[in-house]
Amino acid sequence: MNSPSDSIDDIISLLNKHYRPNSNQEQQSQQYQRPKPSIGNVMLPQIKQQLNVLSAIPNTYNNNQDKFKRKAASLNRQQQPKQQIKDTNLFQIPMTRYLTFKPYSGSTDIIINDVGYYYKFGSSPIKLVKGLLEENGFKESNDKNWTMYWSSCAIKSEIYTNLFAYQKVCHFPKSYEMTRKDLMHRNISKMQINHGFINFNFIPKTYILPAEMSYFLEEHEKIKNNNPVYICKPHASSQGKGIFITDKIQDILNKQNSNNSYVVSHYIDKPLLINNLKFDLRIYVAISCINPLRIYIYQDGLARFATEAYNSDSVKQNRFVHLTNYSVNKDSPNFIANQDPTLDYLGSKWSLLALREYLKLNKINEQQIFERIEDLIIKTIISVESAIFQACEMNVPFRSNCFSLFGFDVLVDSLLKPWLLEVNFSPSLNIDAPLDLKIKGEMLADLFTLIGIVPLDQRFSQDLSYVRNQSNYDFKKHQQEFEKYIIKETEEELKRSRGWKRLYPSDSSSKYTKYFESDRPLNALLRNYYK
Ligand code: ADP
Repeated sequence: MNSPSDSIDDIISLLNKHYRPNSNQEQQSQQYQRPKPSIGNVMLPQIKQQLNVLSAIPNTYNNNQDKFKRKAASLNRQQQPKQQIKDTNLFQIPMTRYLTFKPYSGSTDIIINDVGYYYKFGSSPIKLVKGLLEENGFKESNDKNWTMYWSSCAIKSEIYTNLFAYQKVCHFPKSYEMTRKDLMHRNISKMQINHGFINFNFIPKTYILPAEMSYFLEEHEKIKNNNPVYICKPHASSQGKGIFITDKIQDILNKQNSNNSYVVSHYIDKPLLINNLKFDLRIYVAISCINPLRIYIYQDGLARFATEAYNSDSVKQNRFVHLTNYSVNKDSPNFIANQDPTLDYLGSKWSLLALREYLKLNKINEQQIFERIEDLIIKTIISVESAIFQACEMNVPFRSNCFSLFGFDVLVDSLLKPWLLEVNFSPSLNIDAPLDLKIKGEMLADLFTLIGIVPLDQRFSQDLSYVRNQSNYDFKKHQQEFEKYIIKETEEELKRSRGWKRLYPSDSSSKYTKYFESDRPLNALLRNYYK
């Protein structure tokens, strides 16, 4: 494998030797443009039908329907988050080429010529990932010669330890510290204690039972006259399975006899409603690198609606009122499937962009909601940064090997405060409607472009990303050159970010420094660079 060279000049001359400007690079340097969505003047019969169904529900939406329809038609999907890109030519290090991905079209018969790129699944294949990679020239690999490893499950440590520098795996080790319901609460609670409750007050108060039963009962005793309502979830479950909502302490005590561990949270009983329906947000978040830490949020996502009108006094067992999971509500007779991705504000699942537009039209300060969401994302990731960083140092050979896609589930209450409900380790990439294909397909193509997949002819070139985590490379001796390389790598990644908006580092990174367990030199470097 590549061993670090002694001198930066050697590395740069090798980089120059391998570097050939090509059309791929030109394509990357152009401003990314999405195709314009268009809504014709003709209203399709199925949409007409949906509007009729919607108008049967008394709501604020219908009062605004015409206005909203017009506005949605003029939505500009090309809006790019404003990001500060600095001129890296200054460093005299040539730009690295990476593969650019186009979204999956949904085609089932793709003919792939073997051009040398391979993917491997560590779990059962996911149609969207497979289709996208194959349409972009990847073939399935049966041996170790793969570039992209995708798995819905945790990745075994022997996969990490044997990685080559050009290989990418879709999870960081120890990400479960953030994605297991009980561990996420433990980690955020720790931050509340160490850094002030007020700064990490974005998760509902939660108890892990049976371990915290006596604490839970003590706390309940103090507030029982207010009739608190709790939502109880199995600690390692998903899709609303095993969840119940109750104001009877006995229901929770009964669970004590089962062998399973439960997380019990205060129920947020005044959610923000649209059309009288409760909804939550699926926000896509990516970590492209842990050292230095780089976090991105996707500009689009999903809003998922409950299917029966909300009333905090209604029977708590009615899952169609209180749970917003797609997997629950798709079985409701009121569920409306979205048929047309250009009309992404119709049905039981909306696009995040359509939701934001709707909030704006209804004079709701959506910008403030999303600033708070961005803040809670950064803080949640910082709460597990140390665990992931250390696991990578021990098990992962190269800084460039891992990336992660997370699904942050957020509920907004009637005071416009966002609450983090959970972080999904493997957010659903199922395509149940054309809207899923559009949003998830573009998001994934942009993610694969962002993380930087190295072209074949650069695989074995010398490059500072090829310095092993555990090597005896003398960073002190080459500090200046290494720092230049990190800035170049970070700026180039930003140029490939397309629909991803970088949250960290940013010009306001410094306000988060105090929350890190340790101020890593590379985070400090970028913090100062963007100041
Ligand atoms: P799962 O992983 O099983 O989907 P979640 O934590 O996402 O579990 O909860 C499922 C649904 O329950 C959420 O989508 C949301 O609608 C509702 N929910 C979860 N926690 C709360 C809470 N504390 N207050 C109000 N509603 C909640």
